[in-house]
Amino acid sequence: MEPTGVLVVGSITADVTAFSRRLPRRGETVLGDDFTLLLGGKGANQAVSAARAGAPTWMVGCVGQDPFRDIVLSGLESHGVTLTEVRTVEGRTGVAHIRVDASGENDIVITPLANASLDTGMVDASIQAVRGRVGVLLLQLEIPIEVACHAAEAGSAAGLTVILDPAPAQELPGNVWRHLDIVTPNESEASALTGIEVTDVASAERAASWFLDRGVKHALITLGSAGALSVTADRTRHFPAYPVTPVDTTAAGDAFTGFLGGALAARLDVDTAIQYGMAAGALATTRPGASSSLPDKAAAEALISTDALLEGAAR
Ligand code: ADP
Repeated sequence: MEPTGVLVVGSITADVTAFSRRLPRRGETVLGDDFTLLLGGKGANQAVSAARAGAPTWMVGCVGQDPFRDIVLSGLESHGVTLTEVRTVEGRTGVAHIRVDASGENDIVITPLANASLDTGMVDASIQAVRGRVGVLLLQLEIPIEVACHAAEAGSAAGLTVILDPAPAQELPGNVWRHLDIVTPNESEASALTGIEVTDVASAERAASWFLDRGVKHALITLGSAGALSVTADRTRHFPAYPVTPVDTTAAGDAFTGFLGGALAARLDVDTAIQYGMAAGALATTRPGASSSLPDKAAAEALISTDALLEGAAR
């Protein structure tokens, strides 16, 4: 049997969010209207997304010994993510401290705490533990860079399809690119990494070449409401976005990458997997929040098939 699971190596945080009419000025106190305490972190969001896409999903990450631990672990578990590779370390669970105003404008301080304890030995042990059960490895950059780079190399050596969402964008060692099957930056991450300002499909194509020149097999640049550009050595294809009415674009990228990984692990062809990712990204923008806004597989499939029907009718 071919492995159909997804392994996610990445960050887990408690997202502590206060909502107020306007953000306080420096040194000022304002009264808020609402408050939420939810599972977050790019790694955890991608894991939830892959699980909602229907893939058996394992999360590799670290939490601390505090009340936030139970909140993030029950969040992961409630969405069907397997916790056997999550380590409890000394100290406190990572926190994202978020403030949102009435217009949706926000500011965020992420304190990694336990996420800083994730190390290469844990990654190696987890890859070994799930060997034969996962086909795809998802990575992002909210964990120590050397750990993410090591995971890319170890995952590639273990025969996994390695997908890196290079967010938050930061400079990476030159030898990491050749271990990546797919890189999924958004416009601003692609711009920061390549130095090519990505504003449209043509500039995205130039940025994609930058990744391919360094050894990435497939550059998949997400363009928000303009869809996504897929570039390999053999082919360039622009996928237009699914039409939706967005209310909050948080976690669109995590929805995209999780569904892409889940679909590839299920052995769907790469174009179909991109369509799943794009449908999930589009649906995530129609609901507020991060992990709570992620759609399930049936919703993504419904959007894909409705769009295909409309396309067919238009021809
Ligand atoms: P990020 O959240 O990392 O900035 P994007 O905004 O590029 O990532 O979104 C990822 C994917 O989600 C896009 O490629 C697109 O397919 C889908 N998406 C995002 N925003 C919209 C939107 N406003 N309308 C339709 N699809 C969207």
